[in-house]
Amino acid sequence: MAVYHMTYSPEMEEVCLYFDAPCPLRCWGCITDFRPLDCHLEEVGVPNPPLALDELLGILEGIKIRRVLFLGKEPSVDPHLLALLDFFKAKKTHTVLITNGWEVIGGVDEVCLSIKALTPHLFKAYTGGSDPSRILENFKIYAKSRVKLRAESVLIPGLINPEEISRIAHFISGVNPGIPYRIDAYIPHPGDIYRAPTHGELRMAKRLAKRHLKKVSILHSSVKRLWNVERIY
Ligand code: SF4
Repeated sequence: MAVYHMTYSPEMEEVCLYFDAPCPLRCWGCITDFRPLDCHLEEVGVPNPPLALDELLGILEGIKIRRVLFLGKEPSVDPHLLALLDFFKAKKTHTVLITNGWEVIGGVDEVCLSIKALTPHLFKAYTGGSDPSRILENFKIYAKSRVKLRAESVLIPGLINPEEISRIAHFISGVNPGIPYRIDAYIPHPGDIYRAPTHGELRMAKRLAKRHLKKVSILHSSVKRLWNVERIY
């Protein structure tokens, strides 16, 4: 079990489980490498060692949970994810998988799939992977399933520009133009060669994506959550 960090929001009765599983991609500026803890916490602490499955379930048993998010370094490749899904299904908890789409996971209620790039050389430059076709096919499989599907991409000026965001939006619209799409602002790390996008660049990317999709939103790191988040591991 690769869960090394957990946060809880009492108002939302929501738990976030952060994984450190062997992600098949090597994204430039991977947030889990540079900010392994929930970015909504005030503290800048250090990650804990991964929990054994029974230790994790023991902690979760004592908490009222309406919704759980699986995120971090790729939850879909953790072999214990299915056991966790069974645990939450028995409790009728809404499950949300934040994923790069490398694997298709059944039994989850909601999936947010990150489409890193569509153009092969950009996908390679960003993730180190050879091409995005596996992920795009998996996106189509999720779209045909009963799961509630949404998509997100990261806008990185100089690497993933608004034009690439527009291509991704065009691809999503070919699957279903009603799928919600969020454009996240890249968060640079110390010594980074890329910078965060401006609000104007984010709005431009949103405008281009809106030509293809009905629901497009943008997320900048300055946007704060409106509810409390506590570290529980
Ligand atoms: S897919 Fe996600 S976890 Fe994997 S390297 Fe990229 S940003 Fe990091």
